[in-house]
Amino acid sequence: MRVLVLGGTSEATALAALLAATPGAEAIMSFAGRTRAPSSPIPLRSGGFGGAEGLWQYLEAEGIDVLVDATHPFAAQISRNAEIAAARGNIPLVILSRPGWMREPQDRWTEVPDMAAAAAAIGRETRRVFLAIGRLQLAAFEAAPQHDYLIRTIEPIAPNLPHHRIIAARGPFDVEAEERLLRDEKIDVIVAKNSGAAAVFGKIAAARRLGLPVIMVERPAEASGVGVRAAHPAEALALILGHGPRAALRGV
Ligand code: NAP
Repeated sequence: MRVLVLGGTSEATALAALLAATPGAEAIMSFAGRTRAPSSPIPLRSGGFGGAEGLWQYLEAEGIDVLVDATHPFAAQISRNAEIAAARGNIPLVILSRPGWMREPQDRWTEVPDMAAAAAAIGRETRRVFLAIGRLQLAAFEAAPQHDYLIRTIEPIAPNLPHHRIIAARGPFDVEAEERLLRDEKIDVIVAKNSGAAAVFGKIAAARRLGLPVIMVERPAEASGVGVRAAHPAEALALILGHGPRAALRGV
């Protein structure tokens, strides 16, 4: 059975390890190629496919039996493309999507729909802001140049913000270290995406301990309903194995 895993999350990497240990499964991991790829227990490909059409062509050319969308919950375009390509090729789609974080009573979250709303929600007065949102949407904060930003990204970057400092680091980040960082840097407010990832939950737990406000960007709307959903890698593996090779399904 040939499986293409669209990756970019720790859950995708965990699923890859399960697939590598599954006899009869030949899996390929796909990364967008924006950051240095982490090591993978299955063969890798890197870079865009050229839209939904390009992805469909790849699925056909490689004889893929099951497509897995294990991308980040904020990577909306590739998830849409996966749905379109799977529907067009009549290829089963398994969506591995971890649950979002749940607000607890002591949390001081302001939930906003997107990054522009997050920038506005910081307020007019100058504040010391911890931006842990990756690098792709930093431009939204150019609308709020009065703030002093501490920005953490995987690769170093040069944002167009007058007051900022960069920390280049890749998670996981534990709660004690996050609490120290927030205290030492005198952070007033955190901006985060509700990714649900355990590896980056430390800053949310630390904010909870310190009583700090968090501007929480909600997930983009889920795609149209093509595919079956799994919340954990083992569940995704069971769904994948439930499909079997397409040739067998067609009775070829
Ligand atoms: P996106 O906006 O949904 O996708 C933009 C384009 O990047 C896609 O149309 C596709 O290009 C290419 N692409 C995305 N994921 C790919 C993959 N796994 N393999 C091959 N091509 C891929 O995605 P994004 O938000 O830029 O995220 C890019 C990658 O980083 C994703 O794999 C995601 O899992 C990971 N990531 C994203 C975030 C986030 O907050 N967005 C956080 C952590 C990790 P073509 O149309 O040319 O095929």
